Amino acid sequence: MNPIQNADLHCHSTVSDGTLAPEDLAARASANGVELWALTDHDEISGQHRAAVAAKACGMRYLTGTEISVTFVNQTVHIVGLGFDPDDSNLIEGLRKTRGGREERAKEMAAGLAKVGIKGAFEGALTFVSNPELISRTHFARFLVESGVCKETNEVFRKYLTDGKPGFVPHRWASLKDAVGWVNGAGGMAVIAHPARYKFTPTQEFALFSEFKAHGGKGVEVVTGSHTTAEYGIYAEMAREFGLAASRGSDFHSPTESHTELGTLPFLPANLTPVWELLASRIQ
Ligand code: AMP
Ligand code: MN
Ligand code: MN
Ligand code: MN
Repeated sequence: MNPIQNADLHCHSTVSDGTLAPEDLAARASANGVELWALTDHDEISGQHRAAVAAKACGMRYLTGTEISVTFVNQTVHIVGLGFDPDDSNLIEGLRKTRGGREERAKEMAAGLAKVGIKGAFEGALTFVSNPELISRTHFARFLVESGVCKETNEVFRKYLTDGKPGFVPHRWASLKDAVGWVNGAGGMAVIAHPARYKFTPTQEFALFSEFKAHGGKGVEVVTGSHTTAEYGIYAEMAREFGLAASRGSDFHSPTESHTELGTLPFLPANLTPVWELLASRIQ
């Protein structure tokens, strides 16, 4: 059998902040030639069974997935977990705790927006939410676009939802050690998501990679919808330097909002170990 190249191991469904159901994502991924797929909803694994069944029905291989929100030196970092046992009680409980507090945070975000004249944002955002435990900034962004405050979600984040802006509420997520530990404890692999997105100094970034490794993290996203072509090269080099396996994923959220389509990114650069080689026994 030829080695897998078109793996897409990062995307979101209506179980978190995506707009398509797991079944629709599976069909879309398969239509785009994806051979190995993972659904990685934020802090949630309740869509995993549906995703695995749908992947199989479309003829794709499947790895379980999630994207865990972590706080590292006062910034939010995302850790993708792949190939874990979705029935692991420690992982389930860790994710449940990580989701907790999102509703309170959302109410505070709405209060901040009300102060600059945007009323009813909590209720408005909720109309876009499918999973009541997972109200995210993305749902606020969709509401502000729908109500005409901004033209597109990117503009909402820039003007209202990022650090220092009226709808931003600092939040403490899971620790790096816990997130990596939950995934490893459930037999999976932890992967640093879209490293180029973080606003770390080189020293902080080095600390992130070193501590991630020390806690048992094994992979890093190299080819992702959040990276430029130049950044593929930079993080391919980081993967080699730190002895990490490399992952590939679109981070697809929605046909109208996402700039990267499922399964369409370049393949991983040569001389890297793909995460799916180390996860061969976990592929369904
Ligand atoms: P939260 O977990 O509630 O803080 O929401 C984070 C989500 O917001 C990310 O997973 C992205 O889907 C989305 N997001 C973050 N920054 C942007 C941006 N600049 N433009 C569009 N979506 C963004
Ligand atoms: Mn998201
Ligand atoms: Mn992310
Ligand atoms: Mn994501």
